[in-house]
Amino acid sequence: MTRTKLTRRGFTGALLATSALSACAVQTAPAKAHVVVIGGGFGGATAAKFIRLEDPGIAVTLIEPKSEFVTCPFSNYVIAGFKQIGEITHNYNALTGTHGVRHVRDIAIAIDPATKTVRTGSGQSIRYDKLVVSPGIDIRWGAIEGYTEAAAEILPHAWQGGAQTLLLRRQLEAMPDGGVVALALPPNPYRCPPGPYERISVIAHYLKTTKPRSKILALDAKDAFSKQPLFQDGWNALYPGMIEWVPLNKDGRITQVIAGEKTLVSEFGQRHRADVVNVVPPQFAGKIARDAGLANPDGGSAGWCPVDPITFESTRIKDIHVIGDASIAGAMPKSGFAANSQGKFVAKAIAAALNGRPSFAPVYANTCYSLLAPDYGISVADIYRATPQGIVAVQGAGGVSPRTPADAAQFRHLEATYTRGWYSSATREIWGT
Ligand code: FAD
Repeated sequence: MTRTKLTRRGFTGALLATSALSACAVQTAPAKAHVVVIGGGFGGATAAKFIRLEDPGIAVTLIEPKSEFVTCPFSNYVIAGFKQIGEITHNYNALTGTHGVRHVRDIAIAIDPATKTVRTGSGQSIRYDKLVVSPGIDIRWGAIEGYTEAAAEILPHAWQGGAQTLLLRRQLEAMPDGGVVALALPPNPYRCPPGPYERISVIAHYLKTTKPRSKILALDAKDAFSKQPLFQDGWNALYPGMIEWVPLNKDGRITQVIAGEKTLVSEFGQRHRADVVNVVPPQFAGKIARDAGLANPDGGSAGWCPVDPITFESTRIKDIHVIGDASIAGAMPKSGFAANSQGKFVAKAIAAALNGRPSFAPVYANTCYSLLAPDYGISVADIYRATPQGIVAVQGAGGVSPRTPADAAQFRHLEATYTRGWYSSATREIWGT
């Protein structure tokens, strides 16, 4: 595929343009259309790059306030002390330099579908022909009584990468041997279904190797979780007696926090005081998606964005595609792998639409790897078909790691190697670093 580069001068015009068609330059030819992408994480950065690869004649503007993206994948290993934050931090140089994506370092604060413009925090008005929205999740502050932004500075969630990840790490480092780490875990749906249980595992690894008299108490708003038998087998083998998991039916749901006392209060009034408290609270689609009217206002999926399963175009507003965690993607989980897969197919769908070509039925993929220790990995993989009724898993096409492989140590070691391989290939593909 040949690739042409957008000039900075030509693109600057597109930012303020009322018509992207006249304002974006692709060498000598004007851009045939202008796609704006909100959010430079797993979904948005993938979509921005792959739209340019699909059709270099389409100008792409990425609106993302940060100059560097810290991933949530592998942040649990920073919390556990066997990765550094710099190893999970990626910049946008390849996206802008190699792929000609214009990065506007700003926050999108409003979308006007009537004029097809995005307004930014600094007052820019950016017109689009097609818009991709991939803002990830926001925390539902107040869904747990007392859990506010101020409380999260004492009881971190660490469910968005960066400062919160480091805060939880520091708290674990400061905890004395013999301390208790308590986690409050959310109901479905939420970002990264196995993420909390991977976090429990690798915190246990840290405690076993540095503060072995410590304990972990996991209070869950669910009765079952992703890869549960594999996690629990691993906990029994690697960390016997260290982890207590309390499900919903044993009063595991936390409904209140008392931040100053580092205390979690359950639905039926049990109080759990701990030395370090990690609250993974209920979540919903990022604010810009909700403010724009892309999310369902009520019902079981309130706060998440319904989309066409084939194109990820919003079913609520035309010419806007919502991908990643913010979307309701049928059987697909809210994962970086899934957002990356969706980003590639949405790029194809948008390039097809802008070139007057028919779209086609995509086949999406997801694998969720988890480490229970640096050398102990497990996974669940699935392939998904987009049907007009929704996105469904293809029966028999995926699988979960076996519970009792022939050579268990070697098998888990290899899965840990695949885990690291996935991260480096995915992040290299998305951010090119
Ligand atoms: P994000 O990647 O979060 O990107 C959203 C971006 O949008 C951010 O950069 C944000 O700054 C930007 N943004 C938000 N609002 C605006 C706005 N108004 N204007 C401009 N920009 C905006 N997934 C895996 O596949 N594998 C794993 O091993 C894995 N591990 C995880 C571990 C943990 C602890 C957690 C919490 C998550 C993990 N995930 C994993 C899940 C993964 O992080 C998410 O599913 C993924 O990041 C979703 O991609 P996204 O594009 O929807 O959102």
